[in-house]
Amino acid sequence: MVLLGAPGVGKGTVGDMLAEKFGIPKISTGDIFRKAIAEKTPLGRKVNELTGKGELVPDDITVAIVKERIAKEDCKNGFIMDGFPRTIHQAEELDKLLKGMNLRLDAVVNIFLPKEEIIRRISLRRTCGNCSMIYNLNFSPPKKDGVCDKCGGLLYQRDDEKEETVLNRLSIYEKQTAPLIKYYEGRSRLINVTGETSKEIFERLIEIL
Ligand code: AMP
Repeated sequence: MVLLGAPGVGKGTVGDMLAEKFGIPKISTGDIFRKAIAEKTPLGRKVNELTGKGELVPDDITVAIVKERIAKEDCKNGFIMDGFPRTIHQAEELDKLLKGMNLRLDAVVNIFLPKEEIIRRISLRRTCGNCSMIYNLNFSPPKKDGVCDKCGGLLYQRDDEKEETVLNRLSIYEKQTAPLIKYYEGRSRLINVTGETSKEIFERLIEIL
């Protein structure tokens, strides 16, 4: 399954809920890049500047990390992609990778929200520095201020969640990623879904699926 949608619509949170429900891993290219940056690996050093500005990482680097990740044992019964593909070229490469694994896309989920709502939500978002769990200070605050309920890690606001960068990410999304909705129309089962909260979006999706 692929989760499409602009930054800030809750792909990560909905992806976590789906992963738990179906017992398959959620793969977030954004999480993989953030981890590499935190650990200062060669990949992290290469992508640090781009991700900080909200620019896309080049396709060849991104496809290579996805290829490596989905070759792992836990992906053999399927997986949920969060934040990949983000360009037509990545989508074509994913098609090839899936073919090679004898898997097919069950569904492509397009989560959509109005732009003002996206900006509002992103400004309220906090991420766990340890396990990447996402909180919304309004809808789903942590029990203890600044601390992750799940692992006790410290919560932080991502650099790319500052308003100026968010606007840049939204315009990159419109230009490079939104065309994927057309790409998948007719090719895969495309599900369009919206909702007030990630929980509501998840529940609607489960009904549809
Ligand atoms: P995300 O957490 O999905 O919003 O990703 C954070 C950042 O990682 C993005 O703003 C990009 O810089 C980079 N990134 C994540 N996924 C991709 C992708 N599929 N292609 C290119 N860059 C990506």
